Amino acid sequence: MKLTPYGGIDEIGGNCFLFEAKDTSILFDFGRSFKREGIYYDGYLLPRTSQGLTDLLEFDMIPKINGLYAQEFNTHFPGDSKTIQGCFLSHAHMDHYGNINLLSEDIPVYMGETAKTILTSVQQTSRPRFGRPYIRPPTDTNPSNIRTFRTGDTIQISELTITPIHVDHSIPGAYAFILEDRKEGLVIGYSGDVRLHGWRKDLTTDFIQIAKKKGVQILLMEGTNVDEDFDQNEHQVQRDVSESIEKTDGLAIANYTLRDIDRFRSFYYAAKENSRKLLVNLKQAHLLKLLQGDINLDIPSITDPNIEVYQRPKSRYYRWEQEILDNPEIHIVANSDFKQEEYIFHCDFWNLTDLIDIQPQNATYFYSHGDPFSESGLIDYKRMMEWVKFFKLDFRQFHASGHAPRDDLKDIVEEISPEMLIPIHSESPEKYKEIVDIPLILPTRGHTITLGQ
Ligand SMILES: [Zn+2]
Ligand SMILES: [Zn+2]
Repeated sequence: MKLTPYGGIDEIGGNCFLFEAKDTSILFDFGRSFKREGIYYDGYLLPRTSQGLTDLLEFDMIPKINGLYAQEFNTHFPGDSKTIQGCFLSHAHMDHYGNINLLSEDIPVYMGETAKTILTSVQQTSRPRFGRPYIRPPTDTNPSNIRTFRTGDTIQISELTITPIHVDHSIPGAYAFILEDRKEGLVIGYSGDVRLHGWRKDLTTDFIQIAKKKGVQILLMEGTNVDEDFDQNEHQVQRDVSESIEKTDGLAIANYTLRDIDRFRSFYYAAKENSRKLLVNLKQAHLLKLLQGDINLDIPSITDPNIEVYQRPKSRYYRWEQEILDNPEIHIVANSDFKQEEYIFHCDFWNLTDLIDIQPQNATYFYSHGDPFSESGLIDYKRMMEWVKFFKLDFRQFHASGHAPRDDLKDIVEEISPEMLIPIHSESPEKYKEIVDIPLILPTRGHTITLGQ
């Protein structure tokens, strides 16, 4: 078995791993690398989409593989064409799925049911790059290339068996994979993004147990926080937010990631405990409405009496927005003159202008993210702090990472106990040497290594 990492090496995200067995080749994730894109582009300077893939290829932001891309991009590289029998998506974060809409129509994309729902919401509420959908609807002449799975399923492609297993992460529907090559007798584990301190630790424990049982020999393990130790967990975030809201006389404002449903849940519980309502924006309402169809997720309903939807003033609404506004079962707050002490108002970076209409009084601002780690993130943060200062908001930060800290990573790897470890999705993969006594492979991006014989 050959492995070529095209992303997710010496960087957090941009995951893209090509596995080539004797007769079969598959990809694990095909994400956008914000680190590499950020070197050349940001803000108003963006890769051109009018020139096909030229810009992305120029700066080596996507791999040069014949047969990988959709016909309309008309790409030709030196060497033979490769047949890739499937791309497996671990979860619906852009650093894992961001480039799947560039893939050839012939390559099936496998993802969890929930990831499909999330990406459907993403493409209905914002325009994907190149205007190409992530989930292509089937037509009479062209069936959809999306295949979905759930935990318990196995996917057989020639000599390869892929077993997806749910894990806990900061987005629902996250998976790890176990890849078995029957011809070579090789068992490979791929963690995706993982933690043990969210609302569903048991999901990750399932992965560890199955990986152990299947005898994973080589483990590709994420190491976002391999150099970090912390003990904040999602339960603590909910308790801290709730206690702090109790002391807030006026509006509680929450800046949390739209698709982090665990965090949404924490604010929802905090609202309920304090007899407040969580006031979400139209985008989150759209997502909640779609996810509601999945009873396994057990997400509070968009029609729940403790959830209301804020209608920001606009001269025209998109059709998807209008559909939510017209839904008689959803409680819409159409006036910025609501009783502030009765609400937690979800307001992320992009909706700060809502504060001009609302004019928050005696308000607390809950910043529910980690500290900024990029230059542009720091600039956004400083700008946000100016809004906090201007509106005299009481600033609080409560957050738990989407990724396991060092001690948990050590426990997971030691429990699975592979013969070989390949750290991925990390700025400091070599730090694994300090925490586990298992031989490491530190591959470089774009270079092929051989696994097994
Ligand atoms: Zn990631
Ligand atoms: Zn992720």
